[in-house]
Amino acid sequence: MKKIHHFVNGKAFEGNSKKTSDVYDPSIGEVSAKVTLATKQDVDKVVDIAHSAFHSWSSTPALQRARILFKFKELIEKNSDELTKIIVAEHGKVYDDAKGSLTRGLEVVEFACGIPHLLKGEFTENVGRDVDSWSIRQSLGVCAGITPFNFPAMVPMWMFPIAIACGNTFILKPSEKDPSCALMLAKLLTEAGLPDGVFNVVNGDKEAVDALLENKKISAISFVGSTPIAKYIYENAAKNEKRVQALGGAKNHCVVMPDSDLDQAVNGLMGAAYGSAGERCMAQSVAVAVGDIGDKLVQKLSEKVNALKVGPGMDSNSEMGPLVTKEHLEKVKSYVDIGVEEGAKLVVDGRNLKLQGYEKGFYIGGCLFDHVTDQMRIYKEEIFGPVLSVVRVKDFESAVKLVNNHEYGNGVSLFTRDGDSARTFVSKIQVGMVGINIPIPVPMAFHSFGGWKRSLFGDHHMHGMEGVRFYTKLKTVTSRWPSGIRSNPEFTMPTMK
Ligand code: NAD
Repeated sequence: MKKIHHFVNGKAFEGNSKKTSDVYDPSIGEVSAKVTLATKQDVDKVVDIAHSAFHSWSSTPALQRARILFKFKELIEKNSDELTKIIVAEHGKVYDDAKGSLTRGLEVVEFACGIPHLLKGEFTENVGRDVDSWSIRQSLGVCAGITPFNFPAMVPMWMFPIAIACGNTFILKPSEKDPSCALMLAKLLTEAGLPDGVFNVVNGDKEAVDALLENKKISAISFVGSTPIAKYIYENAAKNEKRVQALGGAKNHCVVMPDSDLDQAVNGLMGAAYGSAGERCMAQSVAVAVGDIGDKLVQKLSEKVNALKVGPGMDSNSEMGPLVTKEHLEKVKSYVDIGVEEGAKLVVDGRNLKLQGYEKGFYIGGCLFDHVTDQMRIYKEEIFGPVLSVVRVKDFESAVKLVNNHEYGNGVSLFTRDGDSARTFVSKIQVGMVGINIPIPVPMAFHSFGGWKRSLFGDHHMHGMEGVRFYTKLKTVTSRWPSGIRSNPEFTMPTMK
C-alpha cells in the first residue's frame, strides 16, 4: 500500500506518528494510499524548522524571491498534466475541470511574481517642515494554511505563493482526503530553488491543526473549509494572538429574472450547480425563479440534468465525476431523502445511479428539486453535492430579501437583461462575490476572493492585494535629520500650524 508522508526542510519527512488515514480513488471506490497524520511533536518540529528558515528568507530581496516564483510557474506549466492527474485520482473531478483549477492557482503565482512592485511602500516628503514619512510592509514570520479537499491545488495556491513572496515561511496542512498534490507542489518549489524550510507540508487531522493553532512561533493562520471549523479556527487562532482569515461554507443563489436570456441562465446554472459534482464553495445550489419564469426554468433544467454524463474523471466524456468519499456520498444522498420528506418536489432523482464497471465508485447523478422553501433544511444547509434547489418568488425584491436572509454570503449571481435591476442588485446584495450574467463569479488572482456573513471569519479576503496585506504588517517611519539647531523639549502634541 502506498504511504504518503510529509515534506519538510526540502525533503520527505516521515515523523513519528503511527496514525494514518485512508486516501481513496473515488472513481472505483478503493483505498489508493494511506496518509500519515502528524502528531503535535511532529508539527512543533516543523514549526521550528520554518522558524529557523525565516530570518534568511525574509532578508532575501523581493526580486530574488520573485525569480524563484517565476521558475516555479514554469515548472507547474511543465508538470501540469501530472499535477492534474493527481487531483483527479484523489478528488475525482473530471480532468479538464481539475486542470482549470490548477490554472486558477497558477494565476496567483503569476500575481506573486510581481511582488517587488506590490511591496513598494508609500513616501511623503515634508509631512512637517524637514520631516519625511514613509510606510513599508514587512513579513510576519511563520504562516500556516489549512485547506479543504475540494481544491487540492488551487486553494493552497491562494495562500502560499503570496505568503512566501512577502518573505514569510509557510506550513501547509492540506486535506487528508487528497494530500498528494500539495507534496508535488512542495517538490516543484524546491526544484525551483526555494531554500529548505521555507515551504513545508504537514499531513494531519485535528491534532495537527490544534498544534498549529497553539504554537507560539506561528504568526498567521489562513483557513478554508466548512463553517463550523472556520469558526473554530478563527476563535482559537485569535485566542492564541495570531492573525487569521478563515473562509467557510456557502449556499450560493442564482437569481433568474423573467427578462433573462433563459438558455444562457440554464447553461450557466448547469455548470455552476453540477460542475465538480457540486463540490465547490462557489457552486450554485439554489436557483431563484422570479415571477412566472419557474415552469420554463425547471423544464429546461430537468432535460439537461437528466442528460448529464456522469463517469470517472479521466474519461473525456464525463461531465461530472464521483464524490470524494463514500461518507460524503451518503451525506449528499441523505439530504435528498430529507428534501423529499420536507415536501419539496424531486424532479430529477440521481440517487440510484449505477455505472457499469464502476459499481463501487462514489457516484450520484444530478438531482433537481422544485418548490423548495426557505424553511427547508435542503435550502438552509450546505449539501456540497450535485443537488440544485429551485425556489420560486414573486418579484425581484423578494429574491433580494431571500438571498440577504441566508446565513451564508459567499457568491451570488443575477441573470437579467435589465441594467437597473442589475445595478440595484449589486448595491443591495449582502454577498462577497457577485456575478451579473456570470454563473460563478470567482475573482481573478489580482482581485481578491472572499465571502460575507458566515462564509468568512476575519477581515481579509484571499489573494490579490488583500493577500499582500494579510501576509505583511505595516510599519510607518517618520524621520528628520536636523543639524545645528537644538530644539527645546515640547510637551504638547505636535501639530501643523
Ligand atoms: P472541512 O472543514 O471538513 O476541512 C477543512 C480542513 O480542516 C481540512 O484540512 C481538515 O483536515 C481540517 N479539519 C477538519 N475537521 C477539523 C477539526 N475538527 N478541527 C480542526 N481541523 C479540522 O472542509 P472540507 O470538507 O475539506 O471542504 C469542504 C468545505 O470547504 C465546504 O464547506 C466548502 O464550502 C468549504 N470551502 C470554502 C471555500 C471558500 O472559499 N469559502 C473554498 C473551498 C471550500
